[in-house]
Amino acid sequence: MGRLSTLFAPERVAVIGATDSEGSVGRAITSNLLESFDGEVVAVNPYKEVVLGLQCYDAVADVDAPETIDVAVVVVPPNVAVEAIREAGAAGIENVVVITAGFGETGSEGAARERDLRAAAEEYDLNLVGPNSLGVMSTPKGLNATFGNEMATEGDISFMSQSGAFVTAVLDWAAERDVGFKDIVSLGNKAILDEGDFVAEWGDDAETDVILGYLEDIDDGEKFIQTAREVTQDTPIVLVKSGRTDAGASAAASHTGAMAGSERAYEAGLEQAGTLRVESVQELFDFAQILSGQPLPDGEEIAIVTNAGGPGVMTTDAVGDSDLSLAEFEDETLDRLGETMPDEANIYNPVDIIGDAPAKRFEIALETVLEDDNVSMAVVVACPTAVLSFEELAEVVTEKQQEAEMPIATTLMGGKSVGEGQDILSEAGIPNYFDPARAVDSLDALRDYGEIQAREYEEPTAFDVDRERAREVLESAARRNTNRLGVEAMELLDAYGIPTPRGGVVSSPSEAQDLAEEIGDEVVMKIVSPDILHKSDIGGVEVGVPPDEVRDTYEDLVVRARNYQQDATVLGVQVQEMVDLDSGTETILGMNRDPQFGPLLLFGLGGIFVEVLEDNTVRVAPVSEPEAREMLDDIDSAPLLRGARGRDPVDEDALVETVQRLSQLVTDFPAIVELDINPLVATPDGVQAVDLRLTIDQEEL
Ligand code: ADP
Ligand code: MG
Repeated sequence: MGRLSTLFAPERVAVIGATDSEGSVGRAITSNLLESFDGEVVAVNPYKEVVLGLQCYDAVADVDAPETIDVAVVVVPPNVAVEAIREAGAAGIENVVVITAGFGETGSEGAARERDLRAAAEEYDLNLVGPNSLGVMSTPKGLNATFGNEMATEGDISFMSQSGAFVTAVLDWAAERDVGFKDIVSLGNKAILDEGDFVAEWGDDAETDVILGYLEDIDDGEKFIQTAREVTQDTPIVLVKSGRTDAGASAAASHTGAMAGSERAYEAGLEQAGTLRVESVQELFDFAQILSGQPLPDGEEIAIVTNAGGPGVMTTDAVGDSDLSLAEFEDETLDRLGETMPDEANIYNPVDIIGDAPAKRFEIALETVLEDDNVSMAVVVACPTAVLSFEELAEVVTEKQQEAEMPIATTLMGGKSVGEGQDILSEAGIPNYFDPARAVDSLDALRDYGEIQAREYEEPTAFDVDRERAREVLESAARRNTNRLGVEAMELLDAYGIPTPRGGVVSSPSEAQDLAEEIGDEVVMKIVSPDILHKSDIGGVEVGVPPDEVRDTYEDLVVRARNYQQDATVLGVQVQEMVDLDSGTETILGMNRDPQFGPLLLFGLGGIFVEVLEDNTVRVAPVSEPEAREMLDDIDSAPLLRGARGRDPVDEDALVETVQRLSQLVTDFPAIVELDINPLVATPDGVQAVDLRLTIDQEEL
């Protein structure tokens, strides 16, 4: 039992602002509670004597033993709502559901009110839902503390929604489809309780088998990832996250900032949290149904059994679009099917047992394929015929599913003839769809969840780094009063063990000459200026400079900087050892700090075409070793790194380690707002961070 168990299973609920005025929210809540709640309802409203037959108290404090009220539902006008919450807290009530709107969602006055509300809730340590919430429901106790017009039926799905309207729509939709719920909460403005709290609660709730959510944002990405990772070891979480445009991404000063916007942060964060993300309500409930009704598959191989050629092909196509694969049958299976099926049948997967198949033939075919070791799940696709009773077929499928204990979905392609078959199947927890693609996608979601459950989350490696030296570099930039740092800050990477080419920043042609001689070969020279973001764009990078041209090149670079911007601050010129690009690949490794999820690492194909090719992947930091390795696998150009076309493969371990070391750097220093290492040159002998650019927030130092 979690901290919020009395919120969902109260004995006594007070409605603060209870009323009987026709058409009001206060009336809807009170009458919904009276309708089905298996407990006591208390009405509070100083302007009423009696509400819907309930005696009305002036204040919660006047109720006898007010501390035994488990939940207070607040429906008073916004200007008195905070006071009502204080009174509830002072009376010893722990759970408060604030229906009242007119807070953060309505501008600055509302935002101030929401701050007051939060302060009041924190003072009394309240479990507060809302404000601006439709309310909460819990079916075991018949609790309907919402102003919706439908009570959920009992089931094993718990559902949270950031949109109250969406709750009412879902309830209406679910009523037609036999979809039942355990708890439902409309999150409202999430002043106190947010998605992470409910995920934690339902993770501990034995009666919740699947957690669903409709979210528009996530308050605390880090907390959410931590909580969800634990919960999804036992309870699947399926989320619709409504998309938001990446406002502000164009203002980013780094490639990473431009490419790793908030939408990608969600994508990565929700994936790392172990949640299944879907795009539609349909998928949300498709996945919920199969997750709660069917066992997890032990592999990805699917068998298709059908009486219809066309739909069989459609199903095969859907398998092709999914992460499932069509099972290849063992010889024994083929022999058995050959013996038992008519000559015209196709005994290879998809198994087409042809149009005159009665339920009995489905039974034999299904039993045979389910016994095959190469089969982990099955989909039965059937069209109505004169010789096939869907009812019998449903019984056969149910029986075989229970015997084999393998996941099955069905596609009974029909309308009115499906009815009773459908009932038998849903009773057995076998999902049935008209569209084979939905059946396949749902089975694919089961496989996905199986993989999530099998995940082992490793701790990020803690490398031995020189944190103090890194801090020094950042602080010295702060002393120069600049937020933008470039190659002059390469020491930051040294301090965290990220290899950089030999070199340094010098401030005169003769110093440049000396350093070049020390390096002892052709060098690369780059202008160093906080005003120049992309050095090569203005001719600020010269590669392969021979020793006798170093002095002149220094002067040239400064002239080019001045031509670009008369008053550009020039910190000097970087003289750098040449890195062998012929045997290497230019990658990009960067970080952009997301307001919800924190540091988002980006790894991909780098160099000057980085934003043209956009082949990269992101993860919320800190990342563990396996996560860093996955990032390499993710990009389309992975074969390039692994030695395509006769090239030597790059040193993957060095790349993976560098990703982890950067992860540690940006986790240690919240002051780093965005950062690009572009290129990070990966060669067969290791990696070299050739260029660096970062933005810092001095206040975080
Ligand atoms: P910017 O990104 O500001 O234009 P970089 O330092 O990334 O400046 O240099 C631009 C390009 O020059 C790199 O993508 C790389 O191709 C090449 N380059 C830079 N430094 C070196 C080096 N030390 N060795 C070889 N090539 C280099
Ligand atoms: Mg660069």
